[in-house]
Amino acid sequence: MSTSLRRTKIIATLGPATESEQLLGGLIRTGVDIVRLNMAHATHEWTRTVIRRIRAASQTVGREVAIMMDIKGPEIRTGDVASPIELKAGEVFDFTVKPGADGGNAEEIRSVDVNYRDLVRDIKVGDTVLVDNGLIRLEVLTKDEARIRCRVLIPGELKSRRHINLPGVKVNLPSFTAKDRADATVGLEEGIDFLALSFVRDAADITLLRDFLEERKSKVGIIAKIEDQSAITNLDAIVQACDGLMVARGDLGIECPFEDLPVIQRRAVRACLRHGRPVIVATHMLESMIEQPVPTRAEITDVANAVYELADCVMLSGETTIGKYPLDCVQILDKIARRIESEDRPDTRQLVELHSERLRVLHSAVVLADSLPGSKLLTFTRYGTMVRGLAALRPVCAPILAFTPQAGLHRQMNLLRAVEPYLMPFASEPDITIENAIAHLRRLGRVAAGDKLIIATDILSQDRLFESVQLRTVK
Ligand code: PEP
Repeated sequence: MSTSLRRTKIIATLGPATESEQLLGGLIRTGVDIVRLNMAHATHEWTRTVIRRIRAASQTVGREVAIMMDIKGPEIRTGDVASPIELKAGEVFDFTVKPGADGGNAEEIRSVDVNYRDLVRDIKVGDTVLVDNGLIRLEVLTKDEARIRCRVLIPGELKSRRHINLPGVKVNLPSFTAKDRADATVGLEEGIDFLALSFVRDAADITLLRDFLEERKSKVGIIAKIEDQSAITNLDAIVQACDGLMVARGDLGIECPFEDLPVIQRRAVRACLRHGRPVIVATHMLESMIEQPVPTRAEITDVANAVYELADCVMLSGETTIGKYPLDCVQILDKIARRIESEDRPDTRQLVELHSERLRVLHSAVVLADSLPGSKLLTFTRYGTMVRGLAALRPVCAPILAFTPQAGLHRQMNLLRAVEPYLMPFASEPDITIENAIAHLRRLGRVAAGDKLIIATDILSQDRLFESVQLRTVK
């Protein structure tokens, strides 16, 4: 990894291909900023073990990464099948919601149970049922209180506990399930930094999780995963309610017409920029590299597109959980991001809504930084407001060197575009804190004599704190 700042952050999902101490160290050294744990596939024992291992690997490498626990939210799945069912095109097939409803089926129509009782109420004749990430497609022909009867449109092999998508159907399942609560509790006990909530449908889903965290006095950040059409309808309210958004293109690409996906991605990134929320572009970024050592040209362009759009993070899933080339994937994301960042200098500050006085003050700091080539922004933050504001304003070239005395916030800053986090106790006098930070940056070789620093911080005057923007030249 190059030592200069990459503005776009990298998230890697942990799995069999990367969970060893050695590979974890490799991921962190190669440039991963956040490690994601996908609870759809995790036991609590594994979760506790790997969280401790990630912390230990961070210590060894000397760089703290954040940990994001991705809880699976409302999910519809098929039940167990004794052996895989080969579904044929045109075949009639039942999804049953009452155990044993397939018994006595005179027409010998094959069937599988579904874990969602209200399926027959919520779905209409003519709707589509997609199984196993959209690989198998069926159309609803009829329904009664025990089953929906479908025709197979796209055939495939149906195995046990496959994920079901119902595009356009408003599913009446709790957004934060008993399993999610149990998983989140383990995460909080082990000190995770972010909780990603799957299938967020409206802002109320976030409020539920927020209440759960507040009851536990937790400062964990909430990432809203948008994955279906309800989330798109309620996009602005979701963006405002969350601490970060994930464009979860895996499920989105199944729940929405595929040609809408780029439009949704762009709208979601813009909404996050407007409201000052970090945004992650996720899934299938380097999918072919699960098997192959080099990405396709289309994948390179897709990653570049997310960087051009000014996303905060790009994310790897299968590439680092089961892929053959996990470290190469991180290196390739790093390389593409740096190349695009060096090329493109868009002025997007007009996209951000300057809805508070504080944001206006930060805006003046960013304008100043943009007018001074080679300058760096320096900020001090206890609660994250300053640094989130600066990152949201998307300075064109200046890195944001952000100091905090809080270990949790120090790790959470890994989510923010162009932010370089530093952990340091603050002195009682803000000016001494600034001097200490500059001395620290000089020792690290991160700043040198003559460098211009634009400092956005609170200053103390007559026992009151004021926001200030200062220009200093390093002595
Ligand atoms: C997605 O659907 O793109 C996603 C990130 O969610 P998951 O991996 O949990 O399916």
